[in-house]
Amino acid sequence: MPTSPIRTGIDFSQPGRQLGSLSVPYSYNLSGWSQLQIPMATIGHGEGPTVLVMAGNHGDEYPGQIAIMRLLRELHDEDISGRVILIPALNMPAAKASTRLSPVDGANLNRSFPGDPEGTVTQIIADYLTKVLFPMSDVVIDLHTGGRGVYFFPCAHMHLVDDPAQRQRMAQATLAYNTDLAFLYSDIAGNGLLPVEAENQGKTVVTTEMGGGEVTPRAVHKLSQQGLRNVLIHVGVLVGKEETRASLGLSPTRWVQALDKEDYLFAPESGLFESLVDVGGDVTAGQPIGAIHFLERPDRAPTIIEAPSSGIVIAHRGPTVTQQGDIAFCLAHDVPDKIIDTFTSVKVET
Ligand SMILES: [Zn+2]
Repeated sequence: MPTSPIRTGIDFSQPGRQLGSLSVPYSYNLSGWSQLQIPMATIGHGEGPTVLVMAGNHGDEYPGQIAIMRLLRELHDEDISGRVILIPALNMPAAKASTRLSPVDGANLNRSFPGDPEGTVTQIIADYLTKVLFPMSDVVIDLHTGGRGVYFFPCAHMHLVDDPAQRQRMAQATLAYNTDLAFLYSDIAGNGLLPVEAENQGKTVVTTEMGGGEVTPRAVHKLSQQGLRNVLIHVGVLVGKEETRASLGLSPTRWVQALDKEDYLFAPESGLFESLVDVGGDVTAGQPIGAIHFLERPDRAPTIIEAPSSGIVIAHRGPTVTQQGDIAFCLAHDVPDKIIDTFTSVKVET
C-alpha cells in the first residue's frame, strides 16, 4: 500500500502544545519542488479523547476558520483533557483563494474521500485524513457554511447514521452546539464526503452550516465560537461547564430534516434570483417562495418557485445571479418523534 507523501514536524505521541503544518508536495510552473503548507496545531494534556477540529474544507466558508484560529490562541494547555488537533484551513489553497474548489487541481475536497496517496493534492489531503488523522481521533468536527453559493439558517447538522450508539453520540454532540435548528441532511450531490468517511470509521462526527456568503453577522460568529467550545466541553476534551439550551434560557432545539430529493429545489431558468421567504421561515405547500427575474425581458413575469410541501426553508441560494440548475432552496421538515427518540435512548436488541 503506498504511503502518504505528506510530512509534518508534529509528533502526535507527544503531549503539550505543538504548532506546525502538514506539508504536501506539489509542483506549479514556477516551482517543481514546492511544499504546500497546511497549518496545524495539537494540544495534548492529561487523559481524554482525541478531537480533530477542522474548517476550510471549502475555502469560502469563514466563521469556522476564524473560530478555530481563536481557539488555537485562546486555549491553555491545562484546559485540555486529552488532545485537540486544530486545522483552521484544511483546503489551504482554496482558503487563500476564497474558493469552494481547490485552485490547484479543481477538486472539491468534500467529494474526494477516501482519497488517494498517489493522486492530486486534494486527493492526497483526503487520504491523509482517512488513514492518519481519523484513526487517531474519537471525535471529528468539520465546520462549514453554505459558502458563497448558498445561505443556510445557522445550524449544526448530521447524517442519520445506522449504528444506534454512534447516532446517539452524534445527536447529543450536535445538540451541544445549542443552535435553534439541528438539521438531518442527505447527500444529493454525490459521494466522497469527509463526514461519511469519518462516520464509516465509527467516529462521533459534528458538522455545521453557519450561514454563508461574504457577510457574517456578529451573532453567527458568536454562535460558531461558543458552540464549538461547548461541543468540546460536551465530548470531554475541554474543561468547563457545559451550557444547554435550557441553561441559556432558550427553547429546545428543533430537529428538521431534508432527506428526500424533492426537498432540494433547483432554478428552473437562469436569471436574477429573489427569495420570497427568509431562511428559518415556515412555508405551506404551494406557497411561492422564490422568483427568477429576466434582465433581457423586464416585461416578462418572473418564474415562481413554489414550495412542493409544507416545511421550513433551511437554505436558499446566495448569489442573486443564478444559472439554470443552481440550487435555489432546501426545504426541511420536522423530524418524526420516533426518530428523535433514538437520539436519547440506545435500543438494545434482544
Ligand atoms: Zn462547505
